[in-house]
Amino acid sequence: MSITSISDFAVSRKPFSLTCSQVPEPHPLVCNFTSMTLSMKRLGKCLLASIVMTTTPAMAQLFEGCPSGPIAAKFQEFGRTGEMPSDLGQWLGNVDAQHIEPWSAFDNVDYVGICWVSAWLIRTDAGHVLIDTLYGPFVDQLLENLDTLDVDLADIKYVLMTHGHFDHVGGAATLKSRLPDAQFVMTQAGWDEAARNAAESQIGRRPWDMIQPEIVISDGDTIELGGNTFTAIETPGHTWGTTSYTYDVEDEENTYRAITIGGLGLNAIESPAQLEAYIQSVDKILAEVTAEEMPVQVHLSNHGFSNGLTENYQKLAARQPGDEHVFVNPDALLEQISELRKGAVERLDTELSR
Ligand SMILES: [Zn+2]
Repeated sequence: MSITSISDFAVSRKPFSLTCSQVPEPHPLVCNFTSMTLSMKRLGKCLLASIVMTTTPAMAQLFEGCPSGPIAAKFQEFGRTGEMPSDLGQWLGNVDAQHIEPWSAFDNVDYVGICWVSAWLIRTDAGHVLIDTLYGPFVDQLLENLDTLDVDLADIKYVLMTHGHFDHVGGAATLKSRLPDAQFVMTQAGWDEAARNAAESQIGRRPWDMIQPEIVISDGDTIELGGNTFTAIETPGHTWGTTSYTYDVEDEENTYRAITIGGLGLNAIESPAQLEAYIQSVDKILAEVTAEEMPVQVHLSNHGFSNGLTENYQKLAARQPGDEHVFVNPDALLEQISELRKGAVERLDTELSR
């Protein structure tokens, strides 16, 4: 299954007229919905604020479990109307609704994220790597998940961060104080945008802090740990600082190359140039998937509903001896890449024709 909703969810296809009147104190909690026009920018802040202000844990939950299709559809509604559905806003901030028990995707990989945004733990004999930090109250969930898995926090050696939006790096400051031997990794552009976003958040209702840059990684750089090689692939587009990471995942005697694509959505697009960068980045990822040597065959997404994470988890749980590993699916990855590219090309056409 391939769902294009993240790339669609903030694409404006009609004029917006939403006012901020019901949202007295806008706050850039979710991936900034800045766009090419001021009105879009204002709209974004309204939407973000609505997420923050409608987090009522006692409300009935929007979804049963964490179903990719319905979540994607809700985000599509968001993109289509430009208005955050109130039930989606409530759900995004609902700690109980977002809760996911940690589970093992591969022999060396555990999912430790929440429903709408991922965190992945890749284990090696020499220590572990965490991809992305979650944010706000969900960092407690991440730490609880690591505890459930009996992970010694001192064994986490690197935290690879995909880009500077709060939902992927907002937990860095808390984790910095909890992971004594971890070094935090991002590109310079990623560190810069994270610092900028954290600074902007200070005037809102939910400020978050960003740590100082530690390891600055660049395109093609690798981190070796315990026999696994983590390669950074700069994939600007979702943001200018977006970076994807490839690494090995183990399934019994088989090793596959996996990718966590650093950013999928077009929600933070501010210029046609950024869309062009996005398209080039998609092509760069495509080259990884079609490579002759160790092609990428697995996508461990940083937003699981983009490619059926929950449903694949359920299939994996029902796997019988001899069955293929459901996450090893290059065709699904190719389809997703194709859809991401298509969405960006359409958006670029729209922007250029204005
Ligand atoms: Zn983002």
